[in-house]
Amino acid sequence: MDNYPLIFDIQRSSFVDGSGIRTVVFFKGCPLKCDWCHNPESQSFNKEILWYHNLCKNCNECSLVCKYNAIRKGDYEYKIDKTECKVCSECVYVCIHNALRIVGQKYTTESLVGIILKDKIYFDISGGGVTFSGGEPLMFMEFLSVVCKKLKEENLNIAIQTCGYFNFEKFEYYISPYINTIYFDLKIVDDKQHIGHTKKSNTRILENLKKLFSPKQHKIFIRTPLIGNITDTSENLGRIIEIIKNYDCDGYEKLLFNDSYQRKIKALGLDLN
Ligand code: SF4
Ligand code: SF4
Repeated sequence: MDNYPLIFDIQRSSFVDGSGIRTVVFFKGCPLKCDWCHNPESQSFNKEILWYHNLCKNCNECSLVCKYNAIRKGDYEYKIDKTECKVCSECVYVCIHNALRIVGQKYTTESLVGIILKDKIYFDISGGGVTFSGGEPLMFMEFLSVVCKKLKEENLNIAIQTCGYFNFEKFEYYISPYINTIYFDLKIVDDKQHIGHTKKSNTRILENLKKLFSPKQHKIFIRTPLIGNITDTSENLGRIIEIIKNYDCDGYEKLLFNDSYQRKIKALGLDLN
């Protein structure tokens, strides 16, 4: 990972993920691999190609320009061999049906700050600001620190959405002084189940949550995505309530399941579970 992380989306004029009108910046790359991730294109730290099969007209133009022979015709549709694809974008340029898209773009700190500040007037009149999301934005703390420092100088409201799996000492040094609000995901309390569904232990996540309240320095909202028979069981939700009772958090939100992940998983060429 170099100093310039990949960003897979920037959504301006958002009314979710914080107060007022917001710009939401989605970083690419996450330490967790949640089975239900509604942004599966955010998990890998690398550039990837998305193929929207519903838009593809099977015209063959993309495979003709691929120098690496990475696009092959299957029984019913074309497929990209990820092991051969160099993510060069040539096929994206020739596809007039917009069936192909590269995800993951680098920005300098200056260019990212410039994009965010374009909407400053709307942030000011609505009580909004910027939200850094992902993926996991706290995987890129040095870069994010420079951006947050510049935005704080402009008096912007800054929120972070985190899966909770991050280096707390680095967070205290690089990020904490500049931000206003944290949206902290608390998904599964049982550690074995957490490992099973996210591929990481929740020990660090629970420790970080405790540290954020010792002492509390930001607005903190705890959130649980409601996933059928995984996070939404009465046992898991009961255990989450027992944990958050210990903390003076500013709100607890249950997030409705977003099933757009199935379409994206297919576009990434991954198998559905
Ligand atoms: S160029 Fe676009 S529409 Fe044509 S086969 Fe390739 S992905 Fe499908
Ligand atoms: S991105 Fe480049 S290497 Fe990958 S399939 Fe398209 S043309 Fe081939």
